[in-house]
Amino acid sequence: MEKKNLDWSNLGFGYMKTDKRYVSNYAHGAWDEGGLIDDDMIVMSEDAGVLQYSQSVFEGLKAYTTQDGHIVCFRPDLNASRMADSARRLEIPVFPEDRFVDAVVETVRGNAAWVPPYGTGASLYIRPYTFGISPVIGVKPAENYQFRIFTTPVGPYFKGGAKPIRVKISDFDRAAPRGTGNIKAGLNYAMSLHAIVTAHNEGFAENIYLDPATRTKIEETGGANIIFVDRDDNLVVCKSDSILPSITRRSLVYVAEHYLHMNVVEREVYLEEVENENFKECGLCGTAAVISPIGAINDHGKEIVLPSGMDSMGPVMQELYDTLTGIQYGRIEAPEGWIKVIE
Ligand SMILES: *Cc1c(COP(=O)(O)O)cnc(C)c1O
Repeated sequence: MEKKNLDWSNLGFGYMKTDKRYVSNYAHGAWDEGGLIDDDMIVMSEDAGVLQYSQSVFEGLKAYTTQDGHIVCFRPDLNASRMADSARRLEIPVFPEDRFVDAVVETVRGNAAWVPPYGTGASLYIRPYTFGISPVIGVKPAENYQFRIFTTPVGPYFKGGAKPIRVKISDFDRAAPRGTGNIKAGLNYAMSLHAIVTAHNEGFAENIYLDPATRTKIEETGGANIIFVDRDDNLVVCKSDSILPSITRRSLVYVAEHYLHMNVVEREVYLEEVENENFKECGLCGTAAVISPIGAINDHGKEIVLPSGMDSMGPVMQELYDTLTGIQYGRIEAPEGWIKVIE
């Protein structure tokens, strides 16, 4: 198979139309057979459920080329089950989990020429999503839905290595207790846009959201979970019912325990602990960057610089990053079932 003629090492994180996308329609109470199509445009009613009441959920994962030349993706079964959870919460019919994984494989195969070669740091980003497509005017779930997957090649998240970022404690809230913070819904992102533009205008890379009920505990950023290394070298991950269960974070917890023999503590993390300098390192984790180190946290003008500083990723984050990416790229043996070989 001949690869597309792209400057793989200089791709950004943007959308590029690739050859194939997967579509399945839900009507009369059932999903149709589904398959790959060429057309990237969607025609729908002006009154579609997704347009009026934001009835949509999505996922994000990557396909990439391993050291030994296979195209693979990482734990797609977890994206399938998380999308099923998200769909149930928004009264969207669940696209069956086994079909989800098969559809990811089919879509990546159809776009194999777009999967970046090993060593470029680039990957093929995969975006599955489901949305209400039939007209809805009274507030209720749509009757008909579409499940789709498109792909787009994306560059390495950090060109020239991961530089620590500065983040701020946001005055906005992300997710209410018992709300939708634990599902991957477009609506959670719509309401984060004003907050992120505000943060960027103030010179910060990201927002840290606190728990809205007490505003004393750390939740996550708009699109990534937060992990810490404490003074005793424990990996500390935030426990909350309103954060998104990141697949990267769950994988890092496993790597910390089983590969690096670290102690992992999942608990509520108070902002006060950050101010009291209980943590040596801090980072964001998600599919896009795996880990991005946080160098400084700004709480209303009070700047807390982590001991790992603004120059480079701290040693524990670096070890976690190297081990997980080593597993993903086939340089380190993966736990059973983590790597789905596509071809
Ligand atoms: C997608 C997402 C993450 C990261 O999840 P991964 O499965 O690791 O990519 C974290 N927080 C939010 C709010 C997200 O939407």
